[in-house]
Amino acid sequence: MIEDARQIAPGTVIEADLCIVGGGAAAISLALEYIKSGRSTVLIPGGGPNQTASGIDLYRGKVSPSGSHEPLEENRIRMWGGTTTVWGGRCVPFDPIDFEKRSWVPGSGWPIGLHELKDYIAHANELSEAGVADFDARSTFPDTQSELLKGFDNDELVTWPLERWSIPTDYSKRYRAELESAANVRVLLHAHAIHLQMDPGGTRVEHVRAACSPGRDFQIHAKNTVIACGALENARLLLASRDVLPTGVGNQNDLVGRYYQSHRFGVCGHAELKNPGKDFIYDFEKDEEGVYCRRRFWLTPQAQEKHQVNNIVGFFFRTVAGTSEHRNAMVSMIMLVKTLLGGAKKGPKRLFQIIKDQRQELASHAWIVLKDGPGIFGQLSTVAYARFFQKRRLPMILPPKKANWFPLFFQAEHAPLRDSRVLLDESSVDDFGMPRLDVRVKFSEIDFRTVKTFISLFKQRLEESGVGTFHLSSADEEFLAYPERYSFNSNSHNIGTTRMSATPDAGVVDENCKVHAVENLYVAGSSVFPTSSHANPTLMIIALALRLAVHLKARS
Ligand SMILES: Cc1cc2nc3c(=O)[nH]c(=O)nc-3n(C[C@H](O)[C@H](O)[C@H](O)COP(=O)(O)OP(=O)(O)OC[C@H]3O[C@@H](n4cnc5c(N)ncnc54)[C@H](O)[C@@H]3O)c2cc1C
Repeated sequence: MIEDARQIAPGTVIEADLCIVGGGAAAISLALEYIKSGRSTVLIPGGGPNQTASGIDLYRGKVSPSGSHEPLEENRIRMWGGTTTVWGGRCVPFDPIDFEKRSWVPGSGWPIGLHELKDYIAHANELSEAGVADFDARSTFPDTQSELLKGFDNDELVTWPLERWSIPTDYSKRYRAELESAANVRVLLHAHAIHLQMDPGGTRVEHVRAACSPGRDFQIHAKNTVIACGALENARLLLASRDVLPTGVGNQNDLVGRYYQSHRFGVCGHAELKNPGKDFIYDFEKDEEGVYCRRRFWLTPQAQEKHQVNNIVGFFFRTVAGTSEHRNAMVSMIMLVKTLLGGAKKGPKRLFQIIKDQRQELASHAWIVLKDGPGIFGQLSTVAYARFFQKRRLPMILPPKKANWFPLFFQAEHAPLRDSRVLLDESSVDDFGMPRLDVRVKFSEIDFRTVKTFISLFKQRLEESGVGTFHLSSADEEFLAYPERYSFNSNSHNIGTTRMSATPDAGVVDENCKVHAVENLYVAGSSVFPTSSHANPTLMIIALALRLAVHLKARS
């Protein structure tokens, strides 16, 4: 059932076997699996079916030092469906090495291995409508060449790993009917959890205090509670529930909110190929079910160990800068439309200012478009159709091969650091009186060295294999020399604030995602990841949520 919780009278007590706090991919996949047990479930999603100004405000917080992380209300969507309402849909599993204790990556090592997650990853891929869980180009596309670029792969860099793309599936829309028709689940739209009320001994959650608006609280008394609010809010809810346990729930070892990780990502350099028209699998490929897949460059585990760096991947990307050096008409056309429309939306004054400030770049884009003439419109309409009018969306528009300008995007693991953390900002509360967050993300030398090593190995391999050349602009060189100067954006990959560990002194949850010192409280989401891999987090978030649902079904 899906209900409007604004109809619930203040002071009401609701009982259930399981209370799920959150309404994103983690919460919904957990609910879908758990309700198969027939047991009663209440899900409070922290919002309704639309994003609202008050919902955005609940996510606001502080970033220290200012500007070192994107504003906290950006990239996180407080509503039913959570961030799957806007996600891109890239599905990538972690690699076996991500679970290992690596001597050169401090804080690495999971208490579980990838083999324990295989079936759940397959199920997560299915729920995300991303096809079968085969992430190897050699078996998914056996009739094509195995390498992305013929002659490129060696012991250190390989190109068979695949990413798969979800539709992208908005979990709140896709699974609404299933939850609506299930008699044993109550989705309480518009309800927020505002407090975890512990029993006097501090070892059990007695109830979750919830509300749709300030002062109209009601309670959910459940045998077990799972918090699935995203990595930043999971830590916030635990830290802010401190009436019984003064340092917060699960925080007896001062670990909640610590080891906050994300990914280092960006574009650095571009490749120019000897023959981009031949032996080069650049575009998205479709598997037998029509799922978009793409190959990527991966630094092998041997190379990671040899160079003592984090896990990292790369792939050819579209141009991100406003520059027109790529000489591609379609890219220039998109840049022009985006810049001018973006400016127009902000009013004529702002538009005029943008044109004035960027006149040289805009003129060079316009010249490139004019030179290509009408040819560009056919090209644009084909990709626009695939991107905007198909149920399964083309993941991104790539510049055509003939431009022979292939920017290299990298995405790297962020090594866990105790001092990279989120804590409560004692000077500011939200509408419900909950302290807001103060986020202090930190990186270490290995994070910067990983990117530098990858770029340098990539350049070396591309050139020694005779496949092409790799070019770094002065801005790229500067970025590699002084990476700490560059502003950081988490891209919504918020990871590690309630890390999983075998023992309570090393983390917040155990291998079943149960908060160590609390009998009936569990955590779902990327906050439990001890390390971040290079992989976008959602597939793993869902896999772990499904595993947790199976555990809870067995336990109850
Ligand atoms: C533009 C964009 C593109 C992305 N693309 C990709 C991609 O291609 N691949 C990928 O893997 N990932 C991608 N991501 C990240 C991905 O969306 C997230 O990793 C994923 O959705 C996280 O799921 P979650 O359920 O853990 O958290 P969220 O989606 O953040 O959901 C948290 C839920 O908890 C609720 N909530 C919060 N606080 C409370 C509270 N106090 N009480 C009750 N409920 C609460 C919220 O309303 C929300 O429903 C992208 C993100 C963005 C912004």
